[in-house]
Amino acid sequence: MLPADLPDALRDALAAPLVDHHCHGVRRDELSRAQFELQITESDSPAPPGTTHFDTPLGAAIRRWCAPVLDLEPHAAPAVYLARRAELGAGEVNRRLLQAAGVVAFLVDTGLERPELLTAAEMGRHGGAAADEIIRIEQVEQDVAELADVAVDYMDSLAEELAARAARAVGMKTIIGYRCGLDFDPSRPSRGSVIAAANRRLSDPKERLDDPILLRHLLWTAVDVAHQRGLPLQFHTGFGDSDLDLHRANPSLMTGFIRALQPLGVPVILLHGYPFHRQAAYLAGIYPHVYVDVGLAMTHTAAGSPRVMDELLELAPFHKQMFSSDCYGVAETCHLGALYYRRSLAMALKSRIDAGEWSAADAARVVHMIGSANARRVYRL
Ligand SMILES: [Zn+2]
Repeated sequence: MLPADLPDALRDALAAPLVDHHCHGVRRDELSRAQFELQITESDSPAPPGTTHFDTPLGAAIRRWCAPVLDLEPHAAPAVYLARRAELGAGEVNRRLLQAAGVVAFLVDTGLERPELLTAAEMGRHGGAAADEIIRIEQVEQDVAELADVAVDYMDSLAEELAARAARAVGMKTIIGYRCGLDFDPSRPSRGSVIAAANRRLSDPKERLDDPILLRHLLWTAVDVAHQRGLPLQFHTGFGDSDLDLHRANPSLMTGFIRALQPLGVPVILLHGYPFHRQAAYLAGIYPHVYVDVGLAMTHTAAGSPRVMDELLELAPFHKQMFSSDCYGVAETCHLGALYYRRSLAMALKSRIDAGEWSAADAARVVHMIGSANARRVYRL
């Protein structure tokens, strides 16, 4: 799995258990081929007739690296792979692949409340790891909106509910990048504008929130809670599914908001990033409270992930990077997220050692920081 001829200190550091600071539950149910294929792509559409989502970097990676975990030869055909998966059953497949990732703690985004997904505690049990929760603030807002009658109740309940849920979590996450883009007005909205927007919202509370005033109000309310409790705030940035306007998910668009948060010291964690991971790396280098992660990109670029990792390492301070698998839906994405993280970091650091730029001891130290120590510090684990 790792390149040959690595110094022992670096190989040992790469093998150490990881803190997975951003992941989602994987499915507990048995999947048809069509369902599985939709879980291994960010697209919400089946592959065009006569083609398959296995013909992607991630699909090839599953056949190469997950097949052996299910006792198959590398490069097993998709039909053979899925037949073996069905034979073992979802529980056994989840246990094998989550444990193969070598994770010591999962920080699970529990914002997708779907019964077929493992809970945070179940992710821990299946993966032989500890588990903590990251709350998704837009999900909290949805729950509050559906129960509130008037705008003032809505505002009070939102603050109370965020604080109550944050008390049981190690961090918060926002998908404002999906809902209105990261080019939002960075200022805190006025109380009058929030009350007017809340009244409109409460007339149709089952709708998904996309009002920029209420999204900013939600975000700033979450910032207050994060500040009080010393919690970090994760942001979706970069690529994602078809709900996203990619050009509005560039993290440099939220530079004004990042500046506004600097005096509070609330850590801002830029998730995913790709193809804007260089902008994210820049922001992490400039602002003391900004951190960066390319977890989702490792899994989806797969054999191409060493280039992405190399681009992140060009500029991002090593104390600002964190590992995540960003697994979701199928446990293959957890194993591969960890595998390509370790592989691409190994290649990047080996090339620096071979070029005489770094010592092996420094490379091992940086691996420890990115793999677990930075997350333990920022999330206070
Ligand atoms: Zn994610």
